[in-house]
Amino acid sequence: MKTVAVLGGGPAGAFAAEQIARQGLRAIVLDEKLAWEKPCGGGVTYKAYNQYQFLRENDTPKRFVHETSLASTGAGSVSLKLDSPLIVYSRMDLNQMLLSRAIAAGAQVEKTRVTGMQRNGEQWDLQTRHGKMTADYCIVATGARNPLRDVGTRLSSNDTMVALGYYVPQQQERIDIQFLPELEGYIWVFPRCGHLSVGICGKGEPASSLRRRLEAYMHEKDLRCDGSTFYSHLLPSLDTPAWQQNRVAGPGWLAVGDAAGLVDPITGEGLYYAIRSADLAVQALFNELRNNEMAAAFYRRLLRRDFANDLELGSRLAKRVFGRTFFGAVPSRMIQLTRRSPRFKSLMQDLFSGTQNYLTLKRRLLTNLNGGLVDMVLSFSFSRLIPRSSTSNE
Ligand SMILES: Cc1cc2nc3c(=O)[nH]c(=O)nc-3n(C[C@H](O)[C@H](O)[C@H](O)COP(=O)(O)OP(=O)(O)OC[C@H]3O[C@@H](n4cnc5c(N)ncnc54)[C@H](O)[C@@H]3O)c2cc1C
Repeated sequence: MKTVAVLGGGPAGAFAAEQIARQGLRAIVLDEKLAWEKPCGGGVTYKAYNQYQFLRENDTPKRFVHETSLASTGAGSVSLKLDSPLIVYSRMDLNQMLLSRAIAAGAQVEKTRVTGMQRNGEQWDLQTRHGKMTADYCIVATGARNPLRDVGTRLSSNDTMVALGYYVPQQQERIDIQFLPELEGYIWVFPRCGHLSVGICGKGEPASSLRRRLEAYMHEKDLRCDGSTFYSHLLPSLDTPAWQQNRVAGPGWLAVGDAAGLVDPITGEGLYYAIRSADLAVQALFNELRNNEMAAAFYRRLLRRDFANDLELGSRLAKRVFGRTFFGAVPSRMIQLTRRSPRFKSLMQDLFSGTQNYLTLKRRLLTNLNGGLVDMVLSFSFSRLIPRSSTSNE
């Protein structure tokens, strides 16, 4: 029986192992921490749990959040009711649930660090803290700080955001998103079971300066830093050229989730893409076994068709949303339009739940927002902010 070593047991690795084991191959997850409180908001969108219903239907503690407030300096705030709530997990609980599913499907799970991998003919020789092992395939799921230099996305500083924050022992019902002047990123407050996850992500700005911005916000909103646990991590946010050269696969290996840079460059949503890419990688692996078509090429094609074109367009849109002015900062104008136009509000709700992608955003703006004169002018102007997709489906 073929052995697939899954390097990393976060959401991407655990889900890949579950699928591999379900289809009858030997899957071994190697993770140095196993379930842990990975720095993360823990927000799972409707797009994710509608497609992977176990993300909603399970006994794991979680919060269903039905309201979000978007705010921007100078433009005030607007509240969005979420018909499809955002589910918020602690990452310790979510990772544990996914690893338990992998084990129940027959995967083996070992707590160890992978320290090296060498190709040996058609096989892999793997080095771990606990010794050596061989495998026929490797799924690389080691996250944004992937230490295995020869596999997975090469993340430059242009392709990452710094993300940091606090777990604050306070409660609130809604999600808050705050846009700040001259920041390619935002602040979030996510209610979780028993605490709030309050954080900031930003591109091209030092962590110390992001932390100052976050602490000033927390002070203003009466959110305590003292006594709250601090966290920080990297968030992949690939620039447009990186989407074209993204190293997601090679002979005998496929990279999934953050190790493949598969995160929405505007919202920072990565959990859906971790699970989805794991699903596609396993399809590619089994296609190679059945049809002899190279898994690497097949996987690249599946990613392109499924969501990589959309995220690449997102990377171009991010520059315009955060970097351009449109009678002032773009997020501020978005908030004002959300306040005044029910159709734009519905579009924002769909963006939030993940049912509106970037590829069809321009068309929707042009066809859907033909209300009053001001709406028309603003919608048309917004639609001009959205670049056309430059990529094919292959
Ligand atoms: C601050 C922050 C907030 C975020 N908020 C959200 C959010 O609200 N919603 C959302 O959808 N996304 C969010 N994301 C993104 C999301 O956290 C990631 O996209 C997601 O965790 C990716 O899953 P993964 O399995 O690819 O990687 P990870 O979750 O990072 O898992 C990688 C695993 O690999 C293991 N590992 C690494 N190296 C080795 C090694 N050498 N040997 C053995 N094991 C190893 C690690 O222990 C880890 O368990 C956020 C990210 C950050 C940083």
